[in-house]
Amino acid sequence: MLKVTKFGGSSMADAGQYRKVRDIILSDPERKVVVVSAAGKRHSKDHKITDLLYLCHAHTQYGVPCDPVYELITSRYLEIREKLGIAVDLEEDFAELKQRLDAKQVTQDEMASRGEYFSAKLMAAFLGFKFVDAAEWVFFNIDGTVNKKKSYAALKEKMTGEGIVTPGFYGVMPNGSIRTFSRGGSDITGSLAAAALDAGVYENWTDVSGILMADPRIVENPQPISEITYDELRELAYAGANVLHEGAIFPVREKDIPLNIRNTNEPSAPGTMIKKHFETESDPDRIITGITGKKDFSIITIFKRGLTSEVGILRKILSVLERYNISVEFVPNGIDNVSLVIPTATIAPHLYTFMADLQQEVNPDNVVVQDQISIVTAVGHQMAFRPGVSGKIFAALGQADINIRMINQGPDELNIIFGVENKDFANAIRVLYNSFIK
Ligand code: ASP
Repeated sequence: MLKVTKFGGSSMADAGQYRKVRDIILSDPERKVVVVSAAGKRHSKDHKITDLLYLCHAHTQYGVPCDPVYELITSRYLEIREKLGIAVDLEEDFAELKQRLDAKQVTQDEMASRGEYFSAKLMAAFLGFKFVDAAEWVFFNIDGTVNKKKSYAALKEKMTGEGIVTPGFYGVMPNGSIRTFSRGGSDITGSLAAAALDAGVYENWTDVSGILMADPRIVENPQPISEITYDELRELAYAGANVLHEGAIFPVREKDIPLNIRNTNEPSAPGTMIKKHFETESDPDRIITGITGKKDFSIITIFKRGLTSEVGILRKILSVLERYNISVEFVPNGIDNVSLVIPTATIAPHLYTFMADLQQEVNPDNVVVQDQISIVTAVGHQMAFRPGVSGKIFAALGQADINIRMINQGPDELNIIFGVENKDFANAIRVLYNSFIK
């Protein structure tokens, strides 16, 4: 079984981390494909190489010399090379890049991509694996989507039996120019590589022992999730949990390849396994898989007598929103009212004109706006069709004196979503965690 591994920035931050990566790779001969990020932070006050690359590029765009920043970037890689005693020439690449940068011939995307490029060159030499440039196999279409067929075929062709290291985060446009994914996009490269090679598993190595059941800034020492389905992960990620790049899920999911989140600093921990579904429940009592949420929503409630029976009124309301290019998160409704739940940051700049348009086109009896609302989401496939779960959730919140402003449950019963005031946000998450997970 072939395993595709991806190591994030913290796993590539210094020579010590490189050694850990090598131990992980060499301990399992099935780990033949390694995707790497740029060097990340070594400690909380440190800089990510990718941030420095963007900074350096911005300097030159404004005609400010970026030599000190460039020096910070190159010295990080040279230090790793020296400490590990790797024989690979980086100086030529550094000089060529700097010269083209000064001549304003390097695009922002190309500059940002070099962190991954240098990481992969070093790691390939350190492991004794073949370096395969992402520019030789990640092909974008003109609209910025990935040409999977062409990319997969190209990577397959590169596999000649030996192990390979390839940079994450970027690929090439049809005209040959470098293009990056959005930030954190090395996760996508790893997923594409796993799908291309029909890997048995895609291991995503990071600095936590799996996805946590709740935000550790809110809940003390939350437990890691051992198993989660792709659907659940999507719900959690959408609702605020920050684990993987969203785009990393689709390529592996399409091919039914499991994704395993692992910790480079604790390789013996099993991490979190993500699959389409699990044949048997390893823990049938685990009703809730994870709890997450986001703050700062507005609820705009539109009151109008007879609203529910007025044909087309929802369309009218939503088309006003559409005009302002605002998407709506939830639309809970009553008999004579309907509410729009929208992130405050997206509606606030347009609120007055939006209200004026609404007045004219919908003619409501009244409109009320409530700010400072948080949305909390409990996710768990085992909640489905099990009576009493929402009862337990709301009883626990009631006992903690937390008022619920809105309730929403999808018919697939994969989640229960509710709105509380911002001031109750953290407490609501803690109360749920303590009553369901602890
Ligand atoms: N180095 C890139 C970033 O910092 C991509 C990645 O690490 O996934 O966003």
